[in-house]
Amino acid sequence: MAKEAVYLDHNAASPLRPEARAALIAALDLTGNPSSVHGHGRALRNLIETGRQQVAGLAGAEPRQVVFTGSATEAITQAIVGGAKAFPTGAVALSAGEHAAVQKAAEATGLPVWTFGLDAEGRIDLDQLAAVLARADAENVTLLVAVHWVNNETGVIQPVERINAMVGPTRHTLFVDAVQAFGKLPLEFAASAPDMMAISGHKIGGPAGIGALLVKAHADTVRLIPGGGQEQGRRGGTEAAALIAAFGAVAEASAYDRDAMTALTAHVERGLQAFAPETVIFGHGANRIGNVTNFAVPGLGNATAMMALDLMGLSVSSGSACSSGKVGASHVLAAMGVPKDLAGSALRVSFGWNSTMADADAFLAGFETLLSRQKRGGKAA
Ligand code: PLP
Repeated sequence: MAKEAVYLDHNAASPLRPEARAALIAALDLTGNPSSVHGHGRALRNLIETGRQQVAGLAGAEPRQVVFTGSATEAITQAIVGGAKAFPTGAVALSAGEHAAVQKAAEATGLPVWTFGLDAEGRIDLDQLAAVLARADAENVTLLVAVHWVNNETGVIQPVERINAMVGPTRHTLFVDAVQAFGKLPLEFAASAPDMMAISGHKIGGPAGIGALLVKAHADTVRLIPGGGQEQGRRGGTEAAALIAAFGAVAEASAYDRDAMTALTAHVERGLQAFAPETVIFGHGANRIGNVTNFAVPGLGNATAMMALDLMGLSVSSGSACSSGKVGASHVLAAMGVPKDLAGSALRVSFGWNSTMADADAFLAGFETLLSRQKRGGKAA
């Protein structure tokens, strides 16, 4: 590739921040096991506990509420599969816009799964949540309620304060997937209603392979990997001290500038609507986090568009889960009532800590070329 490709997929994984890289490399040179009582072990233990304080600081949590895991998916599974065993749970209730990690964990409990929908802008439908809570009362079922804070596909911010007020005072357990909110919004975990939250390192410029479950003392019995007693018995397995140190460093360095991110996406959206007025922007009417736009130009399939953009050195995503290189249909857009055909044109551009206006312009230039080729009747690629 002659020119360096432009990275526009921060919601999938943000590039490693220099602070995380430095902490990771320094920690890799340490030897030993953090559970050992000798000096080598204690040096690693110090790294882990410093990382715990740094991550707790950004999450508004107490350090002891942070359980390090191998990913947010693991933290989510611990919260939901472990939670369903640890607390009396009759059903798992979740929104139709949850990440596959949440959906699959709910299925893995073997319990009934109750769903509440999204509105046309991608916001969790609070009337439907209220109906689910009323049903639980009527049937005397205790729920594990799982919601996400910020949607990874659309960037829509969910009404978590209202959900806290609705579920917090009840007997039900509340879990929040805060992966796309961490570092972007104040989570205030310790002072808020959720019993558990999940966060991830690689979405904020840390390395992949490290996440955390935030858990309140009264919910501290959730277990997935009992193992050798690490993380105070809450997650067995020798801690990944270097990854934890990098996660901590990036949590301390993280400084999300929502206005700057919103300026980049607004620039892209204005540009798209200027040369393709038929562009549909999903979640446009909702409160959004700022760094992501999810849009469709009717008639331009996303798999073809992504390939053509990739050849131009532009890395974007379809937003929905991709496995084995295939673009899947978005359950989030389906839940918003977006017709299948239009959802098949959805593309996601997401910015992050090292994005610039030049990146946004490069995307617009590439996309305009792609559209004009398509309009001339040629192949998109
Ligand atoms: N939840 C949300 C909202 C996400 O965006 C992601 C990652 O895409 C995950 C969970 C899973 O995170 P991880 O890759 O750390 O397991």
